[in-house]
Amino acid sequence: MNIILLGPPGAGKGTQAKKIAEHYSLPHISTGDILRENISNNTSLGVKAKSYMAKGELVPDELLITIIRDRLSKPDCSKGFLLDGYPRTVPQADALQMILTESNKKLDIVLNIDVDDEELIKRLSGRRVCASCGMSYHMIFNPPKEDEICDKCKGKLYQREDDKPEAIRNRLMVYKKQTQPLIEYYTRKGLLRMVDGGKDIPEIFEDIKKILENYD
Ligand SMILES: [Zn+2]
Repeated sequence: MNIILLGPPGAGKGTQAKKIAEHYSLPHISTGDILRENISNNTSLGVKAKSYMAKGELVPDELLITIIRDRLSKPDCSKGFLLDGYPRTVPQADALQMILTESNKKLDIVLNIDVDDEELIKRLSGRRVCASCGMSYHMIFNPPKEDEICDKCKGKLYQREDDKPEAIRNRLMVYKKQTQPLIEYYTRKGLLRMVDGGKDIPEIFEDIKKILENYD
């Protein structure tokens, strides 16, 4: 089965991707991981990608397409794959379509984990970091024993600028603007399935399994 997994930051996409990949023995293909791997191994691809990232620019589509084409041609993808973090835009979706057609493959399903904004803001703004030792906490999922104080070193915890609700709202807005056309694109193709990401992790996975098992 060839699957794409979509979802905003904070939806638990990475967690579900791991579970799906394990349960269905599918390679979990994350462009972020592949880029990081290439960069740390100093491959020619990594060197190229790094030159863009160092300038704060996005890695260009042609480079991403090369990465995806290369990865999908590996033998472990012959029985299926789970793509996570790609495509993000309609032109990327078109490029993916081209790669798949070239190799006589097709996309089976696009799972979109949907969570409402307020819930995402609650999840994403809970992070606190120790000003002294850098230890990271979450006010809901992994709270310190004493409010705003580090368990390890008694340092003061603070909220990073990126984790403030306003910054998160902005990130979500950018995500939506970019992804909405993609969601419409896959809806028109009849491939999109919505997943309620407001539930807890095992429940979400049960829902995903139901969707995948009813697929034919
Ligand atoms: Zn600390």
